[in-house]
Amino acid sequence: MDAVTRWNEVCTKIAEAGRAASRMPGDVTLVAVSKTYGEDAIWPVIEAGQRVFGENRVQEAMAKWPALRERLPEPLELHLIGPLQSNKAKEAVATFDVIESVDREKIAAALSQEMAKQQRQLPCYVQVNTGLETQKSGISPHEVSAFVERCQTVHGLNVTGLMCIPPVEENPARHFQLLMRLADETGLEVRSMGMSGDYEVAIRKGATHVRVGSAIFGPRGI
Ligand SMILES: *Cc1c(COP(=O)(O)O)cnc(C)c1O
Repeated sequence: MDAVTRWNEVCTKIAEAGRAASRMPGDVTLVAVSKTYGEDAIWPVIEAGQRVFGENRVQEAMAKWPALRERLPEPLELHLIGPLQSNKAKEAVATFDVIESVDREKIAAALSQEMAKQQRQLPCYVQVNTGLETQKSGISPHEVSAFVERCQTVHGLNVTGLMCIPPVEENPARHFQLLMRLADETGLEVRSMGMSGDYEVAIRKGATHVRVGSAIFGPRGI
């Protein structure tokens, strides 16, 4: 099966899960995660109609996306979904349209400075470490509301949502529920949650954005 066929299937499943959860059509945005895949693999999916993509590395995105954007007469929306180093903030702001992985104060400050410099006020999501995993980046659930507030008031960031990556070995539903509750409490509309293995569950739990990679492009092999 090719990527366009799988992309079509994912779109159908998103629509069905949305209907089953009484969501409005268009309520759930598919972020097609194209990390590790090259232009040749990505272009057919763009041609098929996908417009929102996710990449987890700044360097990799800078190498691939300018050429892809040039080939398309319409705007694409590129999301940074991986951890960001503050010394890459400049490149990140220039390359991406949405930053989903704001996970500490230093990054919020660096992004804010760059956005002012480049006159590009990008929507940002705060990454939440819903599983309190020591090795995973993200803000602890109990600190989310204070952190979002600081991002908005101290750094002037346009925080529009929350993002999470549940622990791999756990049932994700509980984590999605927690993210949904935190988004409600902080008054944020966007909930970026759910990947290839669990995006239908995430939609049932209130996802507005699902980040799906291997179910579209195939296994990554690394
Ligand atoms: C790679 C990645 C995804 C997509 O994972 P799949 O299981 O391939 O769908 C989603 N979110 C983040 C943050 C990722 O790094």
